[in-house]
Amino acid sequence: MAGAGKVVMRNRGRALIAASAVAVALAGFVVSHASASVAGLLKVRLGGDAQQTRLVLDLDQAATGKLVADGVSDGHVVLLLANVSAQGGLSGNGQGLVKAWSIDQTSGGARLQIDLAADARIKGRFLLPPADGVDHYRYVVDVASQPGGAIRMVSTTAQVAAKLRPEIITARAAPVSLKKVIVIDPGHGGHDPGAAGAQGFEKDVNLAAALALKARLERSPRYRVVLTREDDTYVPLADRVRIAQRAGADLFISLHSDSGQDANVRGASVYTLSDKASNRGARFVRQDDWFMKASLTGDRGVQDILFDLTQRATKNRSSAFANQLVSRIDGKAPLLNRSHRDAGFMVLLAPDVPAVLLEMGFITNTEDEDFLRDTGRRAKFMNAVGDGIDDYFAEATRLASR
Ligand SMILES: [Zn+2]
Repeated sequence: MAGAGKVVMRNRGRALIAASAVAVALAGFVVSHASASVAGLLKVRLGGDAQQTRLVLDLDQAATGKLVADGVSDGHVVLLLANVSAQGGLSGNGQGLVKAWSIDQTSGGARLQIDLAADARIKGRFLLPPADGVDHYRYVVDVASQPGGAIRMVSTTAQVAAKLRPEIITARAAPVSLKKVIVIDPGHGGHDPGAAGAQGFEKDVNLAAALALKARLERSPRYRVVLTREDDTYVPLADRVRIAQRAGADLFISLHSDSGQDANVRGASVYTLSDKASNRGARFVRQDDWFMKASLTGDRGVQDILFDLTQRATKNRSSAFANQLVSRIDGKAPLLNRSHRDAGFMVLLAPDVPAVLLEMGFITNTEDEDFLRDTGRRAKFMNAVGDGIDDYFAEATRLASR
C-alpha cells in the first residue's frame, strides 16, 4: 500500500479527480502505516479565490507544522512539517492568493514554500483529524487578503522607496491580525421587523443583543468583531453571508428571537445546518460563484469534492460550537427542551465558516420578552454566549496542536 501515496504524488492531476477513490484506498493505507512515525503526503489541494485561498495537505498521519518564514516582508512563506515525508518533492501553480507552491524533502522534514500575492497573509493553520467520512488527516493553511494593507516593496533600495508614497510605506508595516474574526448577525432590520412582541419588534432585541455580545468579545484582545448591521437597516441574507466571507470570519453567529402561537412556549435554542439545507447551500454557492470556483484542474468533480470536504468539516465544527454554546447558556437563560436543532436557514450557508443561529428566546412569551429587553440580564446572557465562543476556540486550538 505504500505505493498508493507515491502514485498520488507523481500524478497529482489524476489523483485529484480520483479523490474519492483515493479516500477508499486510504482506509487500508492508514492501517498499514499506523505504527510508522513519519506521515506521508498524499496530495496537495488548493481552493478559493482572491479574497481567501485554502491550501490543504492530505496526510496519512497527524503532523505538526512550524512557520519558518511568515512571508510578510518578501511574500515567501516557509512552513516546516517535521514528521512529514515528501520524497521526490512536489510543486504546482497557484490559485487565488497563492502564486505558486512547492514542497521539498529536507533533513528536518518536508519544507513547504508558498509564494503569496502582494496583499496576502497567512490567516490560519490547523490540522483536521479524520472525520465525517474522510479517512485521513488534513493540514490546512488559510491565506487571506489584507484589505487596504501592504503593497510589497520589490526592492529595498532608497531609490525605489523614494518613489513610494509615504502612506504606502506605513501600510506595509501594519501588523498582521492574528485575531479570531467573529461575525455577529443581528437578524432582520429596517423594513423587516421580524417577530412582534408585546413591547416591540424582534429586530431591535436582536441588534441590542448583538451589541452586547460585541462588547463582551471585544474585552478580549483575541477577537475582532464584525456586525452584519450596526443599526436598523435591512441587509439581504445573501449579503450577510458575503460580509462574513469577506471579513474572513472564523465563526458566524446569527441572533434571533423566536415566536410561537402558544404564548407559554419559551426558551433559547441553537440551530446548525441540516443536510437538506446543505444541498441548498451548494446550489446557492455555485450560482453565486464566490467559493471554490476553480480548482487545479478546473474539473467539476474536483470542485464538488472540495466543496463537500469543506462543508463536512464545517458542519462538524458548527455542531461542536452549538453544543458548547448550549452548555454555557444553560442556567443563564431559559432553554427549550431540545436546544440544539438542525435547520435550513439560508444565513448559515457560508460553506467554510462554522455558523450557528441562536434563537435567544420567544418574544411572544412575556417573561422571555422582559428578559431579552432587560439590559442587565441580556448582557449576562451574551456574556455566557461569549464564554461558549471562548470554549470553541480553546477546543479548536487543542485539536490543532495535538
Ligand atoms: Zn428572526
